[in-house]
Order: sequence, then structure tokens, then C-alpha cells
Amino acid sequence: MNSMEDYLVRGTAAEGRIRAFAVRSTEMIRTMQEIHQTSPNVTAGLGRLMTGAAMMGAMMKDENARLTLSIRGGGPVQGMTVTADSHGFVKGFANVKRVPLTLLGPGKLDVGGPIGYGTLTVIREDGIGEPYSSQVNLLTGEIGDDLTYYFATSEQTPSAVGLGVLVDTDETVKDAGGFIIQLMPDVLEEEITALEEALKNAAPISEMIDQGMTPEDILTKIIGNMGFELLEKQPIAWKCDCSEERVAHAIMSISKSDIQEMIDDGKPAEVKCHFCEKNYVFTTEKLKEMLASSAK
Ligand code: ZN
Repeated sequence: MNSMEDYLVRGTAAEGRIRAFAVRSTEMIRTMQEIHQTSPNVTAGLGRLMTGAAMMGAMMKDENARLTLSIRGGGPVQGMTVTADSHGFVKGFANVKRVPLTLLGPGKLDVGGPIGYGTLTVIREDGIGEPYSSQVNLLTGEIGDDLTYYFATSEQTPSAVGLGVLVDTDETVKDAGGFIIQLMPDVLEEEITALEEALKNAAPISEMIDQGMTPEDILTKIIGNMGFELLEKQPIAWKCDCSEERVAHAIMSISKSDIQEMIDDGKPAEVKCHFCEKNYVFTTEKLKEMLASSAK
């Protein structure tokens, strides 16, 4: 694997009583920014959500598993939606792509402010049975805190989440990455104390990324002296899985009389994929065909 490619590492510490994930998501967030031309605050917020989702997708075992993270807020960004699967593919979009630049400090982008007060909804499709959906209020909107809160309240899994996206002055993505470290139910009291201490002593995630630390470096830095064991390394990437067939299916799910109306008006149906901005056009001829074949 090329060192400049995005990837995820998975590992354990304390003989399996701690599990850990870390990613380099620079290319993934860079691609998102190129497609959506998001302004820096949105790039940081959506980038963090996608980076978290990449790791949460990897926690799911079934090969058809999918995870959707949806944020709704009262701020100018309004909302963000991210989908990840268990193969490391992630896509996402923000309702409002560009907002005025706001900083929390020198060079520190404000993520929570532009999102505002709101909710985080997590929908897990495990590949078997009904989707599982859970909603929590946003704590700060800084994403890392909100995912920590979600893990604690909805999954009863105490977790440390660090997510960082560095945006350059020309709005392009410089670096992105993060980690999730989770305590398993059998964790020992002294291991919790040791982890808290290690997290307190580690540099903020944005600093670690800025220093060029790899996912392995980050986990070694935090849980290196707690019996850290690297289990797996897998590539992650941006990918939108939309297709003409899927969009046609979505069109057919609206009422037949609405489709007939479009045909009668001689208007083609135009549908844009929110995730990748790809435009699908269905001519009236095509719509007629679709109606006819659905009537069979
Ligand atoms: Zn798409």
C-alpha cells in the first residue's frame, strides 16, 4: 500500500479489553471538497463526520452492512449526511456547501457554530434484519464530542473519538484523519485510568495529523504502552454508488400519475445525486418505457 493512500487500521490493547481504530482520510475528504466545493468550515465538519463514519463502517461485520450519519442543526449549514459501508467506502454531502468563514482561534475552524443546535441520527443496516436507528442531541456540534456521546448513550460503549481535518488557505484539504478508542465491558479500572492519562498527554489529533503521523503512529502514541496489537489494515476511499438503475427505481417509487403528468407535459425528469452531484436525465420516451415495464 502506497503511504500516500488513505487507509484504516484496527487494533486492540489490554488483551482485547480495549479496541482501537485509526484512519488517514486525506484523499477521501479532498475528493469530497473537490466535488462539492465546500467552504473551510463545512469541509472541516463534513470531513470529520466522514472520517468518523469510515471507522464506524469498519466496526460492522456483514459485507452488505451500511451506516448513515445524519446531522440536522439550526445553524447556516442546516444539515450533513454521510453514508459508509463495511468495505471502507464513504460518501457525504452538506445541505449548504458554503458558509461565511468563522474561527475559534488562530487557524482553528469553528465546526459546531455553523452547524448549530440539533441532532445526530445514526442508522445502522447490519445486512440482516431491520435497520436500527438512534438519535442523540448534539453536544457541541464539533463531531468528535457528538460521536463520543452517541457511543456512550446509544451503544453503551465508552469511547474516545479524535477527528481532524486541516484545510489550506486556498480551501483545499491538507490532511485528514482520526481515531476511535473503545472500552470493552471487561476493561479493568486501572486500564481506564491509564488510557485517560495517555489521552491527556497526547497532542490534539489535528496536531498529530499535521506532524504527518500515520494511523499506526497515532495508536502507538496513545496505547503503545498498553499492549497495543495491530490486527488489520484496509484501504478506505470516497465512492458514490449511485447509478441510472437506482435513480430510475427512486423515480418509479413516486406515484404513477405524477410520472404520467411529466410525460404529458413533455418534460424530462432530471434528478441530481446529492452525494456526487451527478445529473441523471430521463427523457419522456424513457419514462414511458419505465411506466410500461412497471405495469407488467
Ligand atoms: Zn452519486
